[in-house]
Amino acid sequence: MNKTKCPVCEDLPRGPLCRTHRQELSNTLYELRLGLDELKRMERREVRHRGHGGGAASPAFPPAPMDMTAADLYDYAEDIIQDAAADIGLWGGKAPQVLDRLDDRLDRLADAPNSGRDYRNLTRTSRKVQQHITPPEDRIIHGPCLNPECRTQLAGLPDDTTSTCSKCGSIWAVAEVRRARRERLKGHTITGTPTQIAKWVRRSTGVPAKAQNVKDWLRRGQVPHGPRTGKGVYECDMGGLLAAVEETHPGVNLAA
Ligand SMILES: [Zn+2]
Ligand SMILES: [Zn+2]
Repeated sequence: MNKTKCPVCEDLPRGPLCRTHRQELSNTLYELRLGLDELKRMERREVRHRGHGGGAASPAFPPAPMDMTAADLYDYAEDIIQDAAADIGLWGGKAPQVLDRLDDRLDRLADAPNSGRDYRNLTRTSRKVQQHITPPEDRIIHGPCLNPECRTQLAGLPDDTTSTCSKCGSIWAVAEVRRARRERLKGHTITGTPTQIAKWVRRSTGVPAKAQNVKDWLRRGQVPHGPRTGKGVYECDMGGLLAAVEETHPGVNLAA
């Protein structure tokens, strides 16, 4: 039996990490290493043509997380990485080298007094980097910010569990955001062909749903719908469509 509790499992400030979270930490270091390389490449492109190619992104998407440039985010991530390294007596160095050294000393990092804090900071930072390097067309919309004064659309990665609002800074559980969106649209219907309905799903969620996906949901009875109103025209429950697409989208791989 473990006499000390894992700070991540138990939400404690300190204590050695459990096996699972050691493994996760190792994955995070690896992800950060690749993510920062990509960020560097973006930084060079941004310097060359200032901004993200100007207005090509779909207006349904809010700007990049927290509106940081690739260069700002790189510096921010480097600080976080150096802070974690300082906890095990490694000082200074560039992010890629520090990450390599942390990976070599993973056990020391996982046993450090601040391992819980470091774990959380590194994971959160890796998440931010992943969001930044994910092109807008691969991001999805979780739903409006739950802050009633804000309601900004929260966009992110398909496997996000939490989402930070780029406008008001609130942090929400993605499951809650999606639930609220489903609830709000429950009982509202959209009438159209599977192609038109798929288009609505794409615009509302960013998930690349196709007409065939809508047909499959209808055939399987996954989405409540009224009687067919015309040739291939259906009246579908919007909340039901969201539930169907949310069930499908972990990983977002909607086949044609
Ligand atoms: Zn744990
Ligand atoms: Zn907000």
